[in-house]
Amino acid sequence: MDTILEKVDKLNPYLNIVALKKAANILKNNNLVAFPTETVYGLGANALEEDAVRKIYIAKGRPSDNPLIVHIADKNDIYNLVDDVPETALILMENFWPGALTIVLKKSPIIPKTTSGGLDTVAIRMPSNKIALALIKECGFPLAAPSANTSTKPSPTLASHVYNDLNGKIDMIIDGGSCDLGLESTVIQVVNDKVIILRPGSITKEMLEKFVKNVSIDKALLDNKSDAVAKAPGMKYKHYAPAGEVFLIDGNINNVTSYIIDALRDDRFNNIKSIVIASDETIKNYASFDAINIGSRNNLDVIAKNMFNALRQCDSLNADKIYIESFLEEGIGFAIMNRLKKAASYKIIRV
Ligand code: AMP
Ligand code: MG
Repeated sequence: MDTILEKVDKLNPYLNIVALKKAANILKNNNLVAFPTETVYGLGANALEEDAVRKIYIAKGRPSDNPLIVHIADKNDIYNLVDDVPETALILMENFWPGALTIVLKKSPIIPKTTSGGLDTVAIRMPSNKIALALIKECGFPLAAPSANTSTKPSPTLASHVYNDLNGKIDMIIDGGSCDLGLESTVIQVVNDKVIILRPGSITKEMLEKFVKNVSIDKALLDNKSDAVAKAPGMKYKHYAPAGEVFLIDGNINNVTSYIIDALRDDRFNNIKSIVIASDETIKNYASFDAINIGSRNNLDVIAKNMFNALRQCDSLNADKIYIESFLEEGIGFAIMNRLKKAASYKIIRV
């Protein structure tokens, strides 16, 4: 199929109402449209139509037991989609929606099992990106939208990332520029007054604790190994991985840079194409090697925003080996390291 590509202004989406209507029509016909959100690009389909949602799994090559996030444009839309909204969920919706918080609750029968990956629960989020909100409103139904990448690849933060993975497999891509956050949403499960973080994101445990008492982190996230038992089913699969082999180098920053310089030198000697993902503070050390700077260690929001693009650039440069400096696991750093550990298939070298 031919994939239509249309630009829409992320600050004033209604200036491109023709493109929005075209996208909504495609979605109303149970077909697929990729669109920007403030986290990453999503691959949208009518969340209430099994025939539409099934196409998402096929286009992405996503395992059918990996549930999708349902996106809504109005907080009140949640009441049709879930059994019950506990007080704790309501408080978090009031404080973090629209935004990068996904809430898992018991689903109502209106949500097909295909959308929920066979589970009795459903994940719901109200995004803040104006294009996403305008598109959902134009459709008049919620959009199931996982990240718009091929399964296992780094998440897409630019329309070109979506195009590279899904051109010819989906009907339309809305190009709304770069995603403001560049990191997927925090996924939480809410059971009565308990909140469990299933996937870390830019909304941290500390931020949630300002509003609710009982917040914990799913145990599987605290293990530094494969999280096959994670409660968020999607967390168990290979993820965020470029084609090259990724190594995450962790420790004192001087030891980290010395280790990576030695490794890059050895690789050059052995004719292995390797690359380092480094930071403002360390980039000078790699002057004679291929290096990508993803920003300052003092601004982890920028690191989060640039991380997936950097992993994709490694593929464009045909890197066989990729060395990544680790970051402090504090605040959003916990989410950054969660993604990088997965990108490295848990190959972490401590120095
Ligand atoms: P993606 O949209 O590709 O970023 O993936 C969505 C994430 O949300 C995956 O990690 C899913 O496993 C998780 N998720 C979606 N629905 C549920 C659910 N009902 N229960 C637990 N996790 C969920
Ligand atoms: Mg994803």
